[in-house]
Amino acid sequence: MTPGRTLPRFRVVAAALFDREGRVLLADRPPGKHLAGCWEFPGGKRAPGEGARTALDRELAEELGIEVLSARPWASVSHDYPDRGIDLTLWLVEAWRGEPRPLDGQRLAWVSPRDLGGWAILEADQPFVRALGALAATSSGETTMTEPQTFDVRNPRTGEVDYRFTAPTSAELARTIAALRAQQPAWRDAGLDRRIEVLQRFRAALLARADEIAAALTVDTGRHLIEVGEVHAVAAAIDRWCRKVPDLGPLPDGRSEGLPSVEYGYQLVPYALVGAISPWNFPLILSFIDAVPALLAGCAVLLKPSEVTPRWIAPAQRALDAVPELAAVLAICPGGRETGETLVASVDVVCFTGSVRTGRLVAANAAAHFIPAFLELGGNDPAIITAGADIERATDAVLRASITASGQACQSLERVYVDRRIFAPFIERLTAKARAVDINWPDIHRGSVGPFIFAAQAQVVERQLADAVAKGATVLAGGTIERHGGAWLRPTVLVDVTHAMQVMTEETFGPVIPVMAYDSIEEAIALANDGIYGLSAAVMAGTLEEAEAIGRQLDVGAVSLNDCSLTAQMFEAEKNSFKQSGLGGSRMGAAGYLRFFRTKALLRQTGAPATVAMLAEENAAPASAAAHSR
Ligand code: NAD
Repeated sequence: MTPGRTLPRFRVVAAALFDREGRVLLADRPPGKHLAGCWEFPGGKRAPGEGARTALDRELAEELGIEVLSARPWASVSHDYPDRGIDLTLWLVEAWRGEPRPLDGQRLAWVSPRDLGGWAILEADQPFVRALGALAATSSGETTMTEPQTFDVRNPRTGEVDYRFTAPTSAELARTIAALRAQQPAWRDAGLDRRIEVLQRFRAALLARADEIAAALTVDTGRHLIEVGEVHAVAAAIDRWCRKVPDLGPLPDGRSEGLPSVEYGYQLVPYALVGAISPWNFPLILSFIDAVPALLAGCAVLLKPSEVTPRWIAPAQRALDAVPELAAVLAICPGGRETGETLVASVDVVCFTGSVRTGRLVAANAAAHFIPAFLELGGNDPAIITAGADIERATDAVLRASITASGQACQSLERVYVDRRIFAPFIERLTAKARAVDINWPDIHRGSVGPFIFAAQAQVVERQLADAVAKGATVLAGGTIERHGGAWLRPTVLVDVTHAMQVMTEETFGPVIPVMAYDSIEEAIALANDGIYGLSAAVMAGTLEEAEAIGRQLDVGAVSLNDCSLTAQMFEAEKNSFKQSGLGGSRMGAAGYLRFFRTKALLRQTGAPATVAMLAEENAAPASAAAHSR
C-alpha cells in the first residue's frame, strides 16, 4: 500500500450455514472476481445504507437461492488486503428454507468445521475458520453425536438396567434449535396474556397425566410420595408464576437530573433461546424451575434433563404435545454431557442446576460462547443450635432437613453445630428420633428414606463415612449402606467429628447428620463459614432476634431462622448463592423472571438536541477565572 493512501473499505456479511451432519457450507469465488478460485463463507457486500441482516437475506437469496428464517451475528473481523479493507461479520444461520444451489460456474462444498484448515479459504475468513473449529471441539458435537448415543438406565430400587433411551444426534439437535428459534418471535409477540393462557393449559395437561408422570418419576427415583408431590409442585409453580408476572415489569419511567429535557423509559427484551440443564435429584421440579418463568418472559426453552432419571420425559412430552403452541417453543431433549455441551454452545443464556464440578465446565463453555450462565450448584449446609433453642423442635427440624429425599437435596442440612451446654440432650433426642425412621424397602409405600438414586453417590457417601470413622468419628445411628439391589442408608448420626473429615467439608448427598459441639457463638459461626460452599444455612435459637443476629454473619444465600431448609418449601424470597454454590441472579422471587430479559433504555429528548457548540473548548470556563470571580 502506498504510504498515506486510504484504502477503500467494504462492509461484508457472510453466513455459517450447517447441514444435518454439522458440516458448514463453503462457496468458491467465481471467475472474474477479486481472489477468484479461493473458498469463502457465502455472503457479500452490504449496499450503502443497507442493514446487515437485510444484506444477509438478500445475498443468500441471490447467491444460494435460500430464504433465511433465523440468524444471529456471531463474530466480526476487520482485514486489510493490499488494495482494500473489509469489515466482515459472520452470521450463524439457524433456520432457512430451500436447498442451497450454486451460481453459474460456482462450486459449493459442505465441510466439517474440523477440516476447514485444509481448504484454501480467504485470508479474511481465517479467524472464522479457527472459531468454527474451536466451536466444534468445545461442543464435542462432531465426535460423539453424529451417531445416535444410547443410554442404559439403572433402576435405583433393583439396581438393574431396565430402561434405555437414545439422545438426539447433533444434527437432530441443530434442527430442534433452529425450529425453536424460528418460533420464538411469534411466541414473544403473542403477548403475556396469551402466554399465561397457554401455560395454564399445559398445567392442566400435566395434571391430567399426573398419575402417569408420577409413576415414571417413581421408577426414576425409587420413592413415591415425593414424586406425586413433584407433579403437583410444578403445576403450582406454573400457577404461581402466572399470577405473579403481570405485576413484574420494567422499572418506572423517569426524567434525567442532569438533562431535564430527557425523559426515559424501558423495554424488556427477552432472550430468544434459554437452555436449562437439570440434575437427577428432583427430576421434574428442577427441569421446570427456570423453564416456566423463561417461557412466560417470551423466550423459547431447550431443556436437557439428567440422563440418570429420564423415564418421566415421555409422559411429560405427551402432556406437552397436547398444547402445540407450547411444544413449538419448548423442547425436552434427553441426553448426557455431550447434549449439555451442545446446548450451552447453542443458546443465548443457560440455567444450570447440578454439581460444582460440572458447573465450572458449563461456566467456561458459556464464557467461550459469550452467554450468561445462571448456576445453582451444590451445598454443605450448616445448622447452628444455640443453648436457648427448644430441643424437641430443633431435633425435629434438623432430622427432617437432613433426611428429606434421603439427603439428596442441594439444601439438605449436612453438618450441625450445637452449644456444648445442650449437646448431650440434643444428641440423645436426635439419635432416638433418627433410629425410629425406616427406609422404604421392601415396600415403597412404607418408610421415609428412599434409595440412592445414582449408584455412584452411594459409593461417595460410603467413602466419606469410612474416612470419618477412620479419623475417630462415632456412629450413633445408621452408618452402613444396605444393598438390596439398590442401595439405602438409614438416618446416620455421627459425633466426635472434626473438619479434618470429608463428611464435614464435602457435599454428602445422603441422610447423614454429623454433629459437633461448640463453646462460643464466634466459634460456631467460624465453623459454619468454613468451606467452599455458601448455599444456605439454619439457626435455631431461643428467640428469632438471637437467630437473626447469628444468621446475618453466615456466608450463605439464605438462612432459615428457627427452622431448617425453608428454601425447599417457599419460593418468594430472592437469594444469591455465595462462594462456589452458584453464580448469577436469583431464581426465586421477581428476579427469577426478570433475569430472562435484557433491559433496553429508551431515552426521549423532549427539547432540542445539543449542538456541536457544546464541544468547543472556548466555552469552558477557565478554572482560574472561576476561582478569581469568587
Ligand atoms: P451433575 O453436575 O453431575 O449433572 C447435572 C446435569 O449436567 C446433568 O443433566 C448432566 O447430564 C449435565 N452435564 C454433565 N456434564 C455436562 C457438561 N460438560 N456440560 C453441560 N451439561 C453437563 O449433577 P447431578 O449429579 O445430576 O446432581 C447433583 C448435584 O446437583 C449436587 O451437587 C446438588 O447439590 C446439585 N443441585 C443443586 C441445586 C441448587 O438449586 N443449588 C438443586 C439440586 C441439585
